[in-house]
Amino acid sequence: MKAVLLDRDGVINALVYHEDAGVIDAPFKRSQFKLLPRVPEAIRLLNDMGLKTAIVSNQPGIAKGHLKPTMLKAFERRMLSEIRSGGGHIDRIFYCRHHPKAKRRDLRQTCRCRKPEIGLLEIAAAELHVSLAECYMIGDGIPDLLAGSRAGCRTIFIGRWKCEICQFTEAPHVRPAFVAKDLWEAARLIRSEMTGTGQVASSPNCLVAQA
Ligand SMILES: [Mg+2]
Ligand SMILES: [Zn+2]
Repeated sequence: MKAVLLDRDGVINALVYHEDAGVIDAPFKRSQFKLLPRVPEAIRLLNDMGLKTAIVSNQPGIAKGHLKPTMLKAFERRMLSEIRSGGGHIDRIFYCRHHPKAKRRDLRQTCRCRKPEIGLLEIAAAELHVSLAECYMIGDGIPDLLAGSRAGCRTIFIGRWKCEICQFTEAPHVRPAFVAKDLWEAARLIRSEMTGTGQVASSPNCLVAQA
């Protein structure tokens, strides 16, 4: 394998509960952007294995009027600098900024890059000069697994073993290669798989799905 494609929200940074709207979503404000534990170390581990890294992220917040493009850039600077302080390096960042029901007309479209479509993954692989079959796709949502699997990537789901959505990951085209509780664990699973060492528990069922 040559590269790792990473979802952003819920993988790199924490999701945020927006009290006013009563929804869990991406951060909209500066104070809401917080890197998840051990993310810089995880990225560094991937770097050390010689894997290229790219973020592939749906960011419809600008289209929906939740934040300005400058805020998305500010999050990006903060993310990259915190990862850099931990010795890690992200090669490229790709966003889908579209949404079919966007407030902003210029971003209102049914595009090919919004996951679960595979356009963003195709662009990322092309720019990293790797094939999609040489990529891991890591995400915490069904659209990440669907896009990854449609694109021919090896998928890793970030989630809890006893999770609400694991019932949906049992379908053959959604089922991830691995379930990891965070990016650090995902990076270690990748290392085990690539070096052929250690115990790799492949295709685990979640407790709910088994019940
Ligand atoms: Mg996510
Ligand atoms: Zn798009």
